[in-house]
Amino acid sequence: MLHVRNLLDRFRLDLAVDLGTANTLVCVVGEGLVLNEPSVVAVERSSGRILSGGCAVGHLAKQMEGRTPDSISVVRPLGNGVIADFEQCEAMLRYFFRKAQRPGWRLRPRALVGVPGCITPVEKRAVFNSVHRAGAGQVWVMPESTAAMVGVGLPIAEPTASMVCDVGGGTTEVAVMSLGDTVAAQSVRVGGDQMDQAVVDYLRRHYGLRIGLSSAERLKIELGSAYPLDEEQSVELSGVDAVSGLPRKATITSEEVRQSLGNPLQEILEAIKSVLDRCSPDLAADLVHNGLTLCGGGTLLRRFDRFLSEQTGLPVRMANDPLTAVAQGLLVCMEHLDPWRRWLQSSEEDV
Ligand code: ADP
Ligand code: MG
Repeated sequence: MLHVRNLLDRFRLDLAVDLGTANTLVCVVGEGLVLNEPSVVAVERSSGRILSGGCAVGHLAKQMEGRTPDSISVVRPLGNGVIADFEQCEAMLRYFFRKAQRPGWRLRPRALVGVPGCITPVEKRAVFNSVHRAGAGQVWVMPESTAAMVGVGLPIAEPTASMVCDVGGGTTEVAVMSLGDTVAAQSVRVGGDQMDQAVVDYLRRHYGLRIGLSSAERLKIELGSAYPLDEEQSVELSGVDAVSGLPRKATITSEEVRQSLGNPLQEILEAIKSVLDRCSPDLAADLVHNGLTLCGGGTLLRRFDRFLSEQTGLPVRMANDPLTAVAQGLLVCMEHLDPWRRWLQSSEEDV
């Protein structure tokens, strides 16, 4: 029996999939991270077909974002951490799986997918269905916050508290674990996308200037911060006058960008505080020593760590590789399925 299983394993691909609102990462057991691309597809509006013979997915589609004629739309199949466009999500995953797969005869791959803690049963079912229909055989899901803890290398099985905060495009996951179990967790539908939208809204309100979401994202990355900078900066940017509809320029400062990010940052802080609130005094004391580890692209916002340490009183540190932590954690769990079973939910169980 063992021999048969070993033989099967040689022909079967085991995948760990971080299906993020902003980026999808795929790891292959035995190989590591093989794919890291934006979660976007470019489709022809009239037919709904993916451009470039089904290849306008990921990096290629992202280049088109905000620059397409009316006949083409660039779609992000995930919003707020969950599948918003079922068909396009399936097409995107099919393309990614094909890219991750090496040539040669293979059985249908098995896949472990990370999901936000706030996902509803219907949304979870959509993940199972999409991943199945994209070509996977057996599918499991597990909470992204647990995967992040594993990926970051926190001692979650020890009798001490470990804490992560993962800020993605559409969701933020905060969790505290001890002795292999979740003590408290909070998943909120706010992340980098809401920050971009906040920048767009600010410019429209205060400058009467319209800019696109991708320009807002660039502004957030280049000029944004969560806490005052040693040297504040300013930049001239172009947009469209909200009244006349004509292109024009405006100069915006880093203080203004920070001010515009106030609401989403506050919501993330509230999620962290509510998790801390649910920890026992002993676990809270552990955290004063062990600190909070950050991962996810949203935490790359300048001085985000300083903002959080100031507001929570905890030591805050960045994960070594914040953008791949969840994928690496999923890979570890996929490599050793058995010890992690209790965290996994299979598509064959009721959800
Ligand atoms: P997801 O897991 O949801 O796909 P990611 O962890 O890949 O999300 O993070 C994507 C988010 O991180 C985007 O909103 C992006 O704008 C933001 N981001 C990436 N780099 C930076 C940076 N240097 N500063 C601020 N935000 C950043
Ligand atoms: Mg993520």
